[in-house]
Amino acid sequence: MDAALGASARFAPGPCARLVVKTGSSLLVDGAGAVRRDWLASVVADVAARRASGQQIVIVSSGAIALGARRLDLEKGGRASLEDAQAAAAVGQVALSAVWEALLSDAGLTMAQVLLTLGDLEDRRRYLNVSATIERLLALGAVPVLNENDTVATSEIRFGDNDRLAARAAQAAGAQGVVLLSDVDGLYTANPQRDPAATLVAEVLTLTPEIEAMADGGSGSGLGSGGMAAKLAAARIAGAAGIHLAIADGRVAHPLARFATTGRGTVFVAGEGARAKKAWLAGRLTVHGTLSVDAGAVAALRRGKSLLAAGVTGVEGRFVRGDVVAIAGPEGIVARGLAAYDAGDAARIKGLRNDVQGAALGYAPRAAVVHADHLVLV
Ligand code: GLU
Repeated sequence: MDAALGASARFAPGPCARLVVKTGSSLLVDGAGAVRRDWLASVVADVAARRASGQQIVIVSSGAIALGARRLDLEKGGRASLEDAQAAAAVGQVALSAVWEALLSDAGLTMAQVLLTLGDLEDRRRYLNVSATIERLLALGAVPVLNENDTVATSEIRFGDNDRLAARAAQAAGAQGVVLLSDVDGLYTANPQRDPAATLVAEVLTLTPEIEAMADGGSGSGLGSGGMAAKLAAARIAGAAGIHLAIADGRVAHPLARFATTGRGTVFVAGEGARAKKAWLAGRLTVHGTLSVDAGAVAALRRGKSLLAAGVTGVEGRFVRGDVVAIAGPEGIVARGLAAYDAGDAARIKGLRNDVQGAALGYAPRAAVVHADHLVLV
């Protein structure tokens, strides 16, 4: 849809109505374990400027473990063991939230803290809940600040790095772009610390094995757990859902404004949005049921709207909230999406307008039977 755009323009407020910005531990926390408050204030100023120009921003912030390690006097930045990291995160997350809250509120913005585990985005129902909560927070004008819930996440079910968390959260948030602010300015053809001939790769259209080979594992700073391999994994996850991802230099003040003007960094260009999203939805899960809808609903879906209960004429199959369902109009299947209701509740509200659904359900109805963000036309 935006193939003609320059690399950094894909993250501009117009083409990218909703952006996820991730800040790494080594940018947020200095060598002595204290928050780099002036730098963070410059990021918040950039966020406020983007918000004022109409872009919705979701922040993914690392730094809990690094901040907590200093307060608990733990060695190796709190990463000597999983127990240390979990204890450090419990202490550091409080400090991390406090600084974001203070700076965002100074800029006239309301912070919302969202702590996630991998399971919250893997489980279909919880995925929809996370998605709906972020949607609501953004609609209310808040700035969600996400981090992994390191204190309770166990080793097998951890993201482990916030790069991949940012990419997965971007899918759940319905974002079009992710900017990973990093302690490097992008992907190089080889590790620039070891190879002086290495050059910055400005744009990646396809993640080939050659591109993968350019990354080496581990975090450069030792403070976070990211590293280039995690960033490429994040680019793959984002790209599969039609979301562009950029690695941009976070070592400078006002890094978002700087990236917008210089374009310096690496942009991983996602495939054509709708097609990639469709492939992701199609590849994710099998269809568990069918919602029959009237011609008016088909027309609304084609205009990019959500499927409302009023347009549903029939419910078939056994599905639970979060399962993929087919949507069939009078002429056949027109779309596929994630059901916001179990089959039973969908049947209870079929044909009903929003104001009478609560009485049929016994609880406050959701915005749609299949939300536009979780739906693809086929
Ligand atoms: N969630 C971790 C923290 O807040 C950071 C993970 C990462 O380094 O990417 O400390």
